[in-house]
Amino acid sequence: FLLAYEPAKRLARLNIELNSALVGVRVLFEVLDSPPSEAADDDKPALKVTERRIEFKNVDFAYRGEQPVLRGMSFVAEPGKLTALVGPSGGGKSTVFNLLMRFYDAHDGRVEVDGQEVTQVSRRSLREQIAYVGQETFLFRGTVRENIAFGKPGATEDEIIAAAKGAYAHDFIMAFPAGYETPVGEHGLQLSGGQRQRIAIARAFIKNAPIILLDEATAALDSESELAVREAMDRLSAGRTTLAIAHRLHTISHADRIFVIEGGHASESGRHDDLLAQGGRYATFYRLQLKDQEQPAPAAAATG
Ligand code: ADP
Ligand code: MG
Repeated sequence: FLLAYEPAKRLARLNIELNSALVGVRVLFEVLDSPPSEAADDDKPALKVTERRIEFKNVDFAYRGEQPVLRGMSFVAEPGKLTALVGPSGGGKSTVFNLLMRFYDAHDGRVEVDGQEVTQVSRRSLREQIAYVGQETFLFRGTVRENIAFGKPGATEDEIIAAAKGAYAHDFIMAFPAGYETPVGEHGLQLSGGQRQRIAIARAFIKNAPIILLDEATAALDSESELAVREAMDRLSAGRTTLAIAHRLHTISHADRIFVIEGGHASESGRHDDLLAQGGRYATFYRLQLKDQEQPAPAAAATG
């Protein structure tokens, strides 16, 4: 079907609703291949999380009918640590998350959580252990309280408030006309990008999963929201195994380990200072981003 390959079609966004066991709830697939429908696999053994260690071993993957996206992808996310994936757009970072949550399966190599290959355990048990905070936060029509409780059906009032506080969302929620009972989502109160992200983080808090996947929003937040979102994410990742995709390198300079993902595999890895000293790709990206920040932003200057 030729039309499908026209650039405009490729950019068409398709909203996919996900298994409600997931916190992210909805992922935007920017191109054609939508996740294959999922055959029930609850008869497989449940994932047993012990240490909370994630490992990709020489993973190859391509979306249907497309060029290879992952080629020999190998990396480890150590238990309780913050591991960052950085690199140029299209390098395969979000695809790593798709494989980890099993929206797609690797064609070759292994994706493991605590030594268990993810394809050998039930999807439900895998997704119960993962909280995903993505680039777009899906709010359904309902109250703020209901939108947070979505991360843990049957959550108590105290749990909801604790999660919102953890996500630095409690104060802005209390400033709404009806507080936690304020309707949001379709036809409800419009929330800012930063507020939506903090609702997503509150959902992740209430889910209390040992593994956190963060796909940093590309759209710039104002600096006040960015700070609040960053602090909320730092708090969420404390003591959990966190794998974070970052576009702005300064947000992950404190990561325990950074992997540069390019051409479908990890081309460099290390801590921020080591990678800078190494003078490779990371150092180049970092310098370019610094340079961008130093240039006066014309839009901001114009508005004073
Ligand atoms: P990154 O997150 O590093 O920007 P992605 O993993 O999103 O990279 O994408 C890697 C490549 O896979 C890109 O060329 C992208 O266009 C392609 N891709 C991503 N998602 C899909 C999909 N659902 N169907 C087909 N191709 C996809
Ligand atoms: Mg991405």
